[in-house]
Amino acid sequence: MPLSEAFAGRLLPLLPELVAGYGTPFHIYDQQGIVDTYRDMVGAFGTEPYRQYFAVKALPNPAVLSTLLAEGSGLDCASPVELELAERLGAGGDDVVFTSNNTTVAEYEQALKAGAVITFDDRTMLDKAERLPEVVAFRVAPHGVAARSTLMGSAAHSKFGVPVDELADTYRQARGRGARRFGIHGMICANELDLDRAVRAAVDVVELAARLAADTGIELEYVNIGGGLGIPYRPADRPIDFRAYAAAILAARRRVFGHHRPRVVSEFGRYVTGPHGVLVTRVTNRCRKGQDVVGVDASMSALMRPGYYGAYHHISLPFADGRPETLVDVVGSLCENNDKFGIDRLLPDPVEGDVALVHDTGAHGHAMGFTYNGRLRPAELMLTTAGEVVEIRRAETFDDYLATARWTPAPIMEVTR
Ligand SMILES: *Cc1c(COP(=O)(O)O)cnc(C)c1O
Repeated sequence: MPLSEAFAGRLLPLLPELVAGYGTPFHIYDQQGIVDTYRDMVGAFGTEPYRQYFAVKALPNPAVLSTLLAEGSGLDCASPVELELAERLGAGGDDVVFTSNNTTVAEYEQALKAGAVITFDDRTMLDKAERLPEVVAFRVAPHGVAARSTLMGSAAHSKFGVPVDELADTYRQARGRGARRFGIHGMICANELDLDRAVRAAVDVVELAARLAADTGIELEYVNIGGGLGIPYRPADRPIDFRAYAAAILAARRRVFGHHRPRVVSEFGRYVTGPHGVLVTRVTNRCRKGQDVVGVDASMSALMRPGYYGAYHHISLPFADGRPETLVDVVGSLCENNDKFGIDRLLPDPVEGDVALVHDTGAHGHAMGFTYNGRLRPAELMLTTAGEVVEIRRAETFDDYLATARWTPAPIMEVTR
């Protein structure tokens, strides 16, 4: 179900003029769609205590993050630079969660100073930290349903979180160090589109939290279920029923917790913005190799998911209706054979100059981009709720490409012999 009718209805009428005037390629995001999705999510939890923190890594653009902050969303940061970005946007204290892993003391201190709600990924920080956060939380390692997820890795080899059987002991240790307020984090699905599996993953963390609370006598203030909800990348996919998802989590919380019910916290990224972005590109070449190849003016550096792990992104030619369909590979210009947006796709016989859309680039798209081969990252535009198209990040240039290079080598160390 790629590119919603609402987004298509807003974007397609503008697109010919936009492409002619601005050029390609670029990502464009639908502000209204992002706002609508966020409001639906919050609405699904009704008046129950719930807060969603947008995973900054999914779409770290100030304009998008500001839009979400203005709606009441918080931000989920995992690195010092993401923390700094949140700070620049005026998000502080309770508006920021810091869910990192393999964290240094310096990074931890920065999050502490920012007043962020911190999750420890492992117990080593208990020994290293001079001062504990106001509320101490640990991330539980993938287990249960997650053990079958390839993206999260097998439970035994996951690099994330505290193993389930060490959890109670870890919280006792934190209490021994003086911690008095607690939360828990468990993200045990990734890009999950099946409602039952998504519910089982979240409910599993809620139940685990209740067992932990009973075992240790600790009162948990929140249960953070992380991110990991999927979106319908393929035409046959159906979106998650978020209302049913929220209702199941709330029901589990009522069932397993007594009078004290911890707040539900989430860190969804993909679910919030993923469907509300497209990469707009143009056909630059059509040739026949082993198969029909359609070259476009964007490369994997603008969207690495298909080339990196074979992810499906729908591709369409919005102005080529009526042509006979033909089977093609859609490729970029990197000197890497996996620089392909789509393999064996049926498209209306593409010709040079056609506008082509790569769908669902609103999360983990531009953000995962890179500059290899000098194929620089394209611009990001936003179609605003007011109906304007604004540039929210320009395309990279030669100067950006070399911004960190020293044309005159800088001396670091003199070696004397
Ligand atoms: C990546 C990540 C998220 C967001 O994942 P989505 O798939 O975009 O929802 C949330 N929390 C943590 C800790 C993450 O690493």
